[in-house]
Amino acid sequence: MRIAPSPTGFMHVGTARTALFNWLFAHQRGGVFILRIEDTDAERNRDEWREGIITGLHWLGLDFDEGPFLQSELLPEHVAAAEALFANGYLYACDCTREQVDERTMGNDKPGYDGFCRDRNLVRTELTALRFRVPDEGVTIVHDIIRGDITFAHDSYEDFIVVRSNGVVLYPLANAVDDRSMTITHIIRGEDLLPTTPKQVMMWEALNHCEEVESVPHPHYAHLPMLVNEQRKKLSKRKDPVAVESYRDQGYLPEAFVNYLALLGWSPRGEEEIVPRATLIEQFRLEDVSHSPAFFDVKKLTHMNGEYIRALSLEEFIEAATPWVAPWSSEWKPSDREVPWTQEQFDPELFNRVAHLVQERVTTLGEIAAMVSFFFLDHVPFDDAAFDKTVANDDAGTTLLKLALDAYASVEWNANALHESTLQLGESIGLALRKSQAPIRCAITGTTVGPPLFESMELLGREAVLERLRGALVRAGV
Ligand code: GLU
Repeated sequence: MRIAPSPTGFMHVGTARTALFNWLFAHQRGGVFILRIEDTDAERNRDEWREGIITGLHWLGLDFDEGPFLQSELLPEHVAAAEALFANGYLYACDCTREQVDERTMGNDKPGYDGFCRDRNLVRTELTALRFRVPDEGVTIVHDIIRGDITFAHDSYEDFIVVRSNGVVLYPLANAVDDRSMTITHIIRGEDLLPTTPKQVMMWEALNHCEEVESVPHPHYAHLPMLVNEQRKKLSKRKDPVAVESYRDQGYLPEAFVNYLALLGWSPRGEEEIVPRATLIEQFRLEDVSHSPAFFDVKKLTHMNGEYIRALSLEEFIEAATPWVAPWSSEWKPSDREVPWTQEQFDPELFNRVAHLVQERVTTLGEIAAMVSFFFLDHVPFDDAAFDKTVANDDAGTTLLKLALDAYASVEWNANALHESTLQLGESIGLALRKSQAPIRCAITGTTVGPPLFESMELLGREAVLERLRGALVRAGV
């Protein structure tokens, strides 16, 4: 099993899904999972572009058994294979320019190269490319574990270029040669690559017939369905959030992400979609992978992430939250994110006591900071619209704050007593509890949504609460 991504600087969710399916299959079968980076495209051949893939795999816990191999370093093998194919007549030299081909083939029924150089027996020079001699007749059948046998008629394939005149060995040959030399038994990859598979099968076959090359059994193929967005269009690098790192940085848990990826084109036998990794390994079957495109549904992923967050023990949650709340104590920190407080303002003890209140409410770890910032900031940022609505432009709201300021000065300081007291204050002016909580929450936290109010007030302490109620009244101009 292998994953053979071309470096792009980040890890695409589609690559992650392919990696996972290969990894699950390898783990189930006791196979070897190899990472081979297909970096022969000189423009993409940069170290940091490879890093994204390795970091992504590591974050997802999809460790590879062998590699990373760099395809660029395997060039001598590709060249040797091309030589053998040429010597045995499977490749021929061609000196046509693109313009010449276009001019000759304009209006032809069959698009593409017309086989002009097939029998010219040209000698190779730096002006000749090498083309594969696709048999005139017959078919190549790709045996696909997911899709069954797929037949490709040879007459729909042109004699495609395998080695450019500048010596660059192209993907269909390089990929097949590497799969052969790494004795890959199963090629599990995206459906977008299916049109190139017959070319690889033809070349594999041809290589097996070259005397100087060792015969290698054909691998099994499995082409995974495409990932699509809500409009059922192929995920777009520009419009859709496809970078695995961006999910990591927003605070998705790798286990939740892996679980969600597993459902993209495959489903567990039972009803339950929350499936731990060990069960995924056990239940995964390539035969059960669907043919239809899989919708990459960020909402569903986020929901699932929330479930995984709630399933953590409190200690695990606090540990997982550290990079998002106290990045200075964590080896790794999410990029492009800043906590709203300084290290001095942050109180880890208080956070430990507050954590359970937010664990129930967040769907990503990245949401925590905004939800608890009022515990650590003396001056909480105010949501002006919410403040106007619940306090400044609402007489009942300001009246309630005044009453609360009085009552909270002497109430027993715990969540239950605060709850009871607020209920009574509200009733005394004809407000239901929900209505009376809103101005108080806004005065204390700056907004109308957040963790449970009375528990939060208990943890914040009497002095801070009274201080904020006074501040809110001043702010409201009363
Ligand atoms: N490097 C190619 C790609 O990323 C090939 C992948 C493969 O054969 O698995 O599209």
